[in-house]
Amino acid sequence: MAKRVVILGSGESGVGAAILCRKQGADVFVSDAGTIQEHYKNELQQHNIVFEERKHSEEKILNADEVVKSPGIPEKNELVQKIKAKGIKVISEIELAYRYKGESQIIAITGSNGKSTTTALTGHICKTGGMDCAIVGNIGYSFARQVALDPKPLYVVEISSFQLDDIETFNADIAVLLNITEDHLDRYEYRFENYIRSKFNIIKNQTHKDYFIYCADDPVITKHLETNPLLSNPLPFTMQYELPKGAYVSENNMIMHLDKEEFVMSVLDFAIKGKHNQYNTMAAGLAGMTIGIRKEKIREAVENFESLEHRMEKVLTVRGVEFINDSKATNVNSTWYALESMNQPVILILGGIDKGNDYSSMLELVKEKVKAIVCMGVDNRKIHEAFGKDVEVMVNTASAKEAVHAAFHLANKGDVVLLSPACSSFDLFKNYEDRGRQFKEAVREL
Ligand code: ADP
Repeated sequence: MAKRVVILGSGESGVGAAILCRKQGADVFVSDAGTIQEHYKNELQQHNIVFEERKHSEEKILNADEVVKSPGIPEKNELVQKIKAKGIKVISEIELAYRYKGESQIIAITGSNGKSTTTALTGHICKTGGMDCAIVGNIGYSFARQVALDPKPLYVVEISSFQLDDIETFNADIAVLLNITEDHLDRYEYRFENYIRSKFNIIKNQTHKDYFIYCADDPVITKHLETNPLLSNPLPFTMQYELPKGAYVSENNMIMHLDKEEFVMSVLDFAIKGKHNQYNTMAAGLAGMTIGIRKEKIREAVENFESLEHRMEKVLTVRGVEFINDSKATNVNSTWYALESMNQPVILILGGIDKGNDYSSMLELVKEKVKAIVCMGVDNRKIHEAFGKDVEVMVNTASAKEAVHAAFHLANKGDVVLLSPACSSFDLFKNYEDRGRQFKEAVREL
């Protein structure tokens, strides 16, 4: 362990990292340019960790032996640049946690969309199968906190591209890559290839002992694999053809093959619906099979898994109009899958902060399924430009309540009001959870 470790950012991953470093005997200093939440401050104090908030004191930072950077802080941040210029190593919290996880196994899950769902389902499969595992990362505790306070023989880790930017030795026994579509380009110099490289860091340290589960229907992934040969064991999943090894869906059956084992299950029995969730289930099922969960247990877990809040969550049906909360859809691709799974006419609530969205891929589905678009954001120009010609009714709103009222007004019996914004929420809300909750509240008030 480095002697003096500075942690930049004091959210769940920063605090987890600080606790882990403290436990390893380092001199730890936490610095956050914003305000640290009260419960995190209390925790830092309890662990005798020195911290500062609303500022970065360079003299206490540039003397670090190593810096752990929270995923929310961009690479181009001036202080990060200074730290790197001084030759101080900058790592992510998952890199740190990895160093101290001992003999435990790791299933690591990344992708542009479906990470939380697949992580939760994989964890549920492992737990149903009787494994003593922790589900960590963006959902639940940070990986570092879990390793520090409650180590387990298996970690199912949800990993964002930002966490993968600063890894060195991190490796997963089983790595899952769900898909790669344009997202967060503002953090990658608006270059898609930088973001792709970051996602593929998930297999950077894999060897022949490890497994790589990936979506073979994703052109970005398959193209990358053409020129970057794999060192680990490939387990692809697809909906387009049959495979001797991996998973596929054919005539409403999911078939998984691993060595001599075969597993068949009807997709109609999946607890979570929609094509995107068939992909997520294949990924989670393969991970479960690879780690050695029995087939009956996988089946049981896939059947009784409860979907997460804010992901295609059914809220209520009010006078024949169904309301669905998909607030977690913060990019175009996830909204595409939400629309794809709709069978009734849709009033679509879209908008927020655009991370460089290209709406053209959604246009066909919008023409086919969407009756009206309710824009919910501070700046809705791009949405009007993208859909104004093809969608007859477009209205602007600036709160969840207004949006729900406008949508309800436009809907007829049998229609669906779908909040699947394709954008981040920070213009009008604290975060996507806040957006989803305000939406649900407004629906209940109808
Ligand atoms: P993440 O953690 O990657 O943001 P979530 O599991 O929270 O992903 O799902 C976010 C949204 O993305 C969901 O509401 C759904 O609309 C969409 N989604 C889920 N899985 C997939 C997938 N495999 N491909 C595309 N979109 C998906």
